[in-house]
Amino acid sequence: MTRKWNNVDITFLTSKVGLSKAENHLDAVVYALEYLTEGVGPYPWPHLTFVDPPLSGSGAGGMEYTTLFTTAGSGRVPSFMKMPEMVTIHEFGHAYFMGILASNEFEEPWLDEGVNSYWEQRIVDHYYGGGYGLLRLPFMKMSDTDQGRLGYISSESRAIASNDLPSWMYPHDTYSMMSYNKAATWLHTLQGIIGDETMDNLFREYYRRWAFRHPSGRDFISVVNDVVTNEHGDRFGENMNWFFDQVLYGKGICDYRVSGITNNRIRSYSGVVEGDSVTYTRADRKSDTLFISRVSIERLGDLMLPVQILIRFDNGDEVLESWDGKASYMDFEYTGSRRVVSAIIDPHDRIDMDVNRINNSLTLEPTRTVTRRMLNKFVLMMQMMISIFTI
Ligand SMILES: [Zn+2]
Repeated sequence: MTRKWNNVDITFLTSKVGLSKAENHLDAVVYALEYLTEGVGPYPWPHLTFVDPPLSGSGAGGMEYTTLFTTAGSGRVPSFMKMPEMVTIHEFGHAYFMGILASNEFEEPWLDEGVNSYWEQRIVDHYYGGGYGLLRLPFMKMSDTDQGRLGYISSESRAIASNDLPSWMYPHDTYSMMSYNKAATWLHTLQGIIGDETMDNLFREYYRRWAFRHPSGRDFISVVNDVVTNEHGDRFGENMNWFFDQVLYGKGICDYRVSGITNNRIRSYSGVVEGDSVTYTRADRKSDTLFISRVSIERLGDLMLPVQILIRFDNGDEVLESWDGKASYMDFEYTGSRRVVSAIIDPHDRIDMDVNRINNSLTLEPTRTVTRRMLNKFVLMMQMMISIFTI
């Protein structure tokens, strides 16, 4: 089957059993062409051929050669699961990350498979649904981004090696988990920190500088540093090396938790009570009761990443605190007539590297807390189970 997208002639070769998925595969490759052209740079060739091998040749599926690649899974995967589309998008993506931006896949696999997995996840979740790009059932949903992240966070070997190793040096079969999953997870985290626009701009600049050349990881980092400081000045420091030193050249994990919330009533007072910059006196008080409230945060992992904490009060007020995440703990204190009822670290899920999101929130309404925590644990367990089947 053929299709034309702009100036690109697309040819798709499949078996009879795969014909039912042919349009899906062609849609998927057009999505990837559109998205990567917009987010990274133009696809420079006038043609593209991809093959869905029959079951008897499935060992040939999922392999990339520039302008030619093989996909997998046609006709045999139910439509609620976008695995075949994901493979098509992934293998096509290598036209960029390996083909056009010809880094060394064996010496620096994160720059090839990790960067490509990151873009694959963005494309799958953009076109097939943010929370359910990969899997959509009434009782279970999973984004492609979460699938990759779960591959990393659920691995017990996630901290045994740094992420900059050549492919043959990864110990204990950690090559895939590290090169694909961990690298994509910290690229999403980088996006969460510097923002969507800067992330796309740095990839456009990476393409502009390095298309049809052989960039190394250091070259990529140099582009990141230039674009981030150009767009944000020293907001994130002199450069972003602190980030790569931890996630790429380091082994540590990221885990922040809310360790406690307290609201202590001030029983009697006279004169002035000081808390933060507010000064309370009897004459100023809005109610008969004042509280000193404290939200306690702890850093359980070695990684130090900037996080936000959303704090909610019983009168409906919300405060969004920012913390550089460097100290081993942090207390936020408030004095007033309102009480803290809940705290959520990273409320917008920007720090995908946090290996445990269950401990990111705490609320003082006991029944809901228990129910939600049990639900969270159940969802995590189900996601881990499905990730075992899908990786
Ligand atoms: Zn790949």
